[in-house]
Amino acid sequence: MNKREFLKYSGYLVGGTLISKPFSTGIKISSDGKKKKKPHGELILRYKPYTLQLKHAFTLATSSRTTTPVMLTEIEYGGVTGYGEASMPPYLGESHDTVTRFLSSIDLSRFSDPFLIEDILEYMGGIMSGNYAAKASVDIALHDLAGKLAGEPCFRLFGLNPAKTPLTSFTIGLDVPEIIKQKVAEAEPYKILKVKLGRDSDREMVEIVRALTDKPLFADVNQGWEDRHYALEMSKYLKEMGFVFLEQPMPKEKYEDIAWLKERSPLPIIGDEAIQDVKDLLKYKDVYSGVNIKLMKCGGLNGAIKMIHVAKALGMKVMIGCMTETSCAVTAAAQLSPLADWCDLDGNLLISNDPFEGLKIIDGRVILPDRPGTGVIKKS
Ligand code: MG
Repeated sequence: MNKREFLKYSGYLVGGTLISKPFSTGIKISSDGKKKKKPHGELILRYKPYTLQLKHAFTLATSSRTTTPVMLTEIEYGGVTGYGEASMPPYLGESHDTVTRFLSSIDLSRFSDPFLIEDILEYMGGIMSGNYAAKASVDIALHDLAGKLAGEPCFRLFGLNPAKTPLTSFTIGLDVPEIIKQKVAEAEPYKILKVKLGRDSDREMVEIVRALTDKPLFADVNQGWEDRHYALEMSKYLKEMGFVFLEQPMPKEKYEDIAWLKERSPLPIIGDEAIQDVKDLLKYKDVYSGVNIKLMKCGGLNGAIKMIHVAKALGMKVMIGCMTETSCAVTAAAQLSPLADWCDLDGNLLISNDPFEGLKIIDGRVILPDRPGTGVIKKS
């Protein structure tokens, strides 16, 4: 259904006339010309476990895997369906079981207005703490649904300019030289590469990548370095090798060492594993120069927007990242990318069984789909 047809069937004003409709959003025009919102119907939540197959083993400083469990969610209201997703990388501690437990414990049928996202998220927060990915799967589906009901892409509802999406990076995991070569070739549409470091062979890894490309590079150590003097030495080396920033160089518990490093490092230090939500931002504002914000860490778009504004107010750089996810969650995160300094939105490209289509990367930039909601569509 295109936008015009959608508006027709959802009871919006088209050409100054309220079209009669089989489905109503509950927005009525009263005799004094003011819109009166009378939501009706109920929210129906559905969910299905799914396992992402990774194109290459995803190897970080501390782990390696070939699959990622996700939960695909749908919220239906008056015949319109919003899509969401929870991605559960092992380090966050969520799984198919925990997300199923959380989603089966909430009752969205008690809500009759899908636009009351703050209220719904507050209700979920009161049911159980934590469970950020599970909550993100509901948050994303609600934003997709609200956008579809309003007939507008989420980025427009947030007031953001889709022409302002920053360049985004493609991740090169730790691997043998042959596979690294293959990954650099796969990253051709990207103008920036993100290199995973944190093992003994870091310099070798950097030299292999640098020999293959002149593109700017991001470094992500995933907490892999233990010694702050080594981290400082590496930071100087990476600066010389054309790196832009250094992400989570040391274990998050070593925040005093990371603050020491930040004072001396020629590269900005970005917090990822250490900074999950707004509380962490306030706690670590003097430890990191910026933050990698991910929907699965902070519970969805609602939490991410709050983090973006707090980070900016604290003078921190903002990066929008993702886990290994389908195009559903990645395209949802991308809606906020016009607010970011950098993006790392490649999770969907690291998997071979993406059931959705959404954002595109053209000339290294995120191109947001010009469709209502998050703009994702299910592949047939
Ligand atoms: Mg990271």
